[in-house]
Amino acid sequence: MTRQAATYRKGRVLLAGDAAHIHPPVGGQGLGIGVQDAVNLGWKLAQVVRKTSPDSLLDTYHAERHPVGARVLHNTMAQMALRRGDDRTRALGDYVAEFLGTDEARLRLAAEMSGLGVHYDLGEGHPLLGRRMPDLDLVTDARPLRAFTLLHRARPVLINLGEPGEIDIGRWANRVSLIDASYAGNWELPLIGVVTPPTAVLVRPDGYVAWVGEGTQDGLTEALTRWFGPPE
Ligand SMILES: Cc1cc2nc3c(=O)[nH]c(=O)nc-3n(C[C@H](O)[C@H](O)[C@H](O)COP(=O)(O)OP(=O)(O)OC[C@H]3O[C@@H](n4cnc5c(N)ncnc54)[C@H](O)[C@@H]3O)c2cc1C
Repeated sequence: MTRQAATYRKGRVLLAGDAAHIHPPVGGQGLGIGVQDAVNLGWKLAQVVRKTSPDSLLDTYHAERHPVGARVLHNTMAQMALRRGDDRTRALGDYVAEFLGTDEARLRLAAEMSGLGVHYDLGEGHPLLGRRMPDLDLVTDARPLRAFTLLHRARPVLINLGEPGEIDIGRWANRVSLIDASYAGNWELPLIGVVTPPTAVLVRPDGYVAWVGEGTQDGLTEALTRWFGPPE
């Protein structure tokens, strides 16, 4: 009942959803990770088909999503084991329930089961890097704007939270939306908690942060090239 494809990509064949991983429905995670597979893959596929990005971008689909699927398989196996009716398993279940009475364990499990704790390994850096952009209440042009509204067009977005106009994306301007915004509240991530406010964030169409500005544009050109293809 618990199986995962060894690879999510072989040439032109790509696996997503239950075709890539199947597990008992405990925790109601299957549909969510299947949709997240598709969201991770969709924009990459579009860019490769349009030839704005090299074919190798598709390999990041397996690299990012296979570990997420493996983790879900792992946690569902553990949950199934805890459902055994023997005395020892019941005692183990009591211990697990006690641990889940602590905030840290509860937050960790909630982040894992909801998928909000997913972290793609995009290298060293700010904790936002490779994590899901929080749906912040931004202000742009003196008007309120929810951050996720910026993702409705399924395009990459660079949110400049520093001085308006200080970021120039030059030859990526046709592919990446650049928006000046401000945000006054805390940047709080599931499981991680409050993090240092960035001065800019580059958000991929799947909602994950591809680059974080911390007062400079260091690394921005590399991130734009890596995720959205070489400049026009
Ligand atoms: C009892 C049960 C309870 C569940 N509860 C939850 C839950 O609470 N929360 C949750 O997130 N997930 C739950 N899941 C898991 C969830 O249903 C699946 O993870 C999800 O439906 C997978 O979606 P999918 O599109 O990848 O595959 P599927 O939903 O299996 O869709 C594949 C489709 O392809 C079609 N198809 C197959 N072969 C061909 C072919 N050759 N040509 C054309 N079409 C074809 C099939 O008919 C099907 O319509 C549950 C699953 C089960 C079995």
